[in-house]
Amino acid sequence: MSSVFHGPYTAISSAGAFGPLWLERLVWQLLFVDGEVAHYRVTLTQEDRHWRIVRPAPDASIAAVRRLEHEFSLAPRLMPQWAVQPVALLSGPEGTLMVLEDASGVALHDQPEPLSIEGFLQRAIAAAAAVSGAHEAGLLHRDIKPCNLIQDADGVVRLSGFGLSVDVQLASQLPVFDAICGSLGYMAPEQSRRIQRQADQRSDLYALGMTLYEWLAGRLPFEATDAVEWVYCHVARIPPPLSQHRGDVPEPLAGLVHRLIAKNPDDRYQSAAALHRDLNEMLRQWQELRDIPDLQPHLSNGQHDASIRTPSHDSTLALRDLKAWSARTSINLSGRDALDLSSVMKSAHALRDESEQDRLIETLLRNTIVHAGAQRALLLLVKDEAPVIRAIGQSGAEGLHIELADRAPDKQHLPLSVLYRVMRTRQRLVMDDVCGDAYFGADEYVRQHGVRSALCVPLVKQSRVLGVLYLENNLAPGVFTLCRTEVLELLASQAAISLETVRLHQELEQENARRRDVEIALRGARARLASVAQATVMGELAASIAHEINQPLASMVSNAAAGIRWLNRENPQVDEALSGLRDIVAQGRRAGEIVNALQSLARQGPHHRRQLLINDVIRHVVALTGVEVEQQRVLMTTHLTCSPLRVCASSVQLQQVVLNLILNALDAMSAGDHVLRRLSITSEVVGRDYVVVSVEDSGRGIEPVDLHQLFNAFFTTKDKGMGMGLAICQSIITAHGGHLYAMPARFGGATFVFTLPVVE
Ligand code: ADP
Repeated sequence: MSSVFHGPYTAISSAGAFGPLWLERLVWQLLFVDGEVAHYRVTLTQEDRHWRIVRPAPDASIAAVRRLEHEFSLAPRLMPQWAVQPVALLSGPEGTLMVLEDASGVALHDQPEPLSIEGFLQRAIAAAAAVSGAHEAGLLHRDIKPCNLIQDADGVVRLSGFGLSVDVQLASQLPVFDAICGSLGYMAPEQSRRIQRQADQRSDLYALGMTLYEWLAGRLPFEATDAVEWVYCHVARIPPPLSQHRGDVPEPLAGLVHRLIAKNPDDRYQSAAALHRDLNEMLRQWQELRDIPDLQPHLSNGQHDASIRTPSHDSTLALRDLKAWSARTSINLSGRDALDLSSVMKSAHALRDESEQDRLIETLLRNTIVHAGAQRALLLLVKDEAPVIRAIGQSGAEGLHIELADRAPDKQHLPLSVLYRVMRTRQRLVMDDVCGDAYFGADEYVRQHGVRSALCVPLVKQSRVLGVLYLENNLAPGVFTLCRTEVLELLASQAAISLETVRLHQELEQENARRRDVEIALRGARARLASVAQATVMGELAASIAHEINQPLASMVSNAAAGIRWLNRENPQVDEALSGLRDIVAQGRRAGEIVNALQSLARQGPHHRRQLLINDVIRHVVALTGVEVEQQRVLMTTHLTCSPLRVCASSVQLQQVVLNLILNALDAMSAGDHVLRRLSITSEVVGRDYVVVSVEDSGRGIEPVDLHQLFNAFFTTKDKGMGMGLAICQSIITAHGGHLYAMPARFGGATFVFTLPVVE
């Protein structure tokens, strides 16, 4: 206990008794904190008198203060039978505070032990009586929850916390998209402003139902971490049966609580008075039989009680005042926007973080379901002009379940009439009560599942339908409001764009994979060409091999002849003869090796020659080397002849020549950091006699001293060069009746030119 207020306080209203002197003499006891306000019991010890004081926290929003002011302004209408009486509103250096009468009551939010059934019924009856009193006085409380229900020692329950209360008659005139207000855990779906319905007294009954559920079960039916999720629970999740928490609740009593928290106000109790009667009847049965066997509820199905919406006769709140007040409660108004913003932000994060299509779809669908308050949702993407279901979200007892799919939609999944209408018109469809719709009501799915609220949005990008989002809630009609739809469309179009991006990303990856395959194929082709080169190398070597083989043969012959002479002497010179024989063996072996090499050359076989267009050869090799050329950032251009004249040649061998010239050119350009690496390939026909092909590069060029030996076998200036390429090229071109030349290029670099005779 301590004194927390100092300094002069002025009573804004009420008796001067609550002036600064009074405040200074108080002893304070903190009872509990409810959001932005703290509740105290204050005592004047000398006089043994006490009050309750509600005081906003130092950093509380202005709305918290406005709520106190509003509650105080309602004081004349708050009857002592059912409401805790405000007696003064004080303002001072430490803010505003409200003084209430205190009959030593306790707020019913802290309950250490489970209530007995009888204890519960008595308390519920007292609470229903208080709510009934408020409703009869024409007030909608809008914030019923255990800490706003204060029970006196004599058992009477009184309501407090009227800061959000409005006149019942005026409530129906508030715009539907007025503030979200109330406490998240107890708030009726229609009060969350997510539903196209006005809040009325039945919204208070929903909050009372949540309170009763908590008193019986020791916990609320839902758990949520943020406002969006709370609202989703109230709109779309079915509360777990009370029996799940507690086995001793008689069935009719559990039924009564569940009826109070029905999503659709029409399915709830229609008045606190009817609820009060039923609870009394249940208590009577319980006291008599220790059971509640059965109850004919006073609920007249679907029909509103006469007491509902009855305007209060002594309404002190003018509509004008109310509007002014509701405008002032900016925190509440921004509350709804905050929910929308929170949903959009959640999805934006998903879009930023998820690059995998499946995860993205799952997260987006989850956010959308929670945001929209849907029970069931389907995401369809258009593939080859037809819709395919990619994800199904379903709200169940265990929460939200998202299943990824890849199947064609049929009448088991969703109303096809709705889907096709939306795909055809590219317009969203928002339906308050599909069952009652003259056209869609006949859809087989709608009839089977009793679809109430439905929303179907096309995901459009650049006037192309990429997919469709379908949402449904069968618990209540009018769940998907137009206002929600705008945010949903924002989410949906974000989704469409990112799904499209993910798709493009995947296509790019596929394209890359395809490129990799092509590269592997090219490498294979190159290897095959290399083996042809090998063969040609062997052909080139054949001449020198023939030359090589003659040498050992000649040597063997002369050694043998000498040996004969050494042995034919009178004194045969055996040692000399043996040495000659050893030479013969060695040379024979060398000759054998050369023969082996020749055999392997022979296995390559002759190359088939045919009439061909030189341009085909060039194009083929250009395609083969495209990747390399690109990787080395070389600009390759071709200027090819239009002449239809052909050459007679082995295309494989000519490809080998062109490939070799191009690879040499790339090698020559790889060194040095040239501003522009150019490789130009041309073909032309000169005087109907010769085809001339030139390969010109902008590389480092050829040293004049090297010019005359470039075509020699084994001449190379490269570390790992073989020096066979140009020799082979020359032998191939010569064999085809042409010539191969090397010369300096026009702008530095080298040009290689070969000619081939044209076929007559
Ligand atoms: P290698 O595989 O050793 O390069 P080549 O017979 O193909 O065998 O080439 C022989 C030599 O000719 C090369 O080492 C290089 O010095 C020179 N050469 C070939 N083409 C070019 C070119 N486009 N530019 C400059 N030098 C070249």
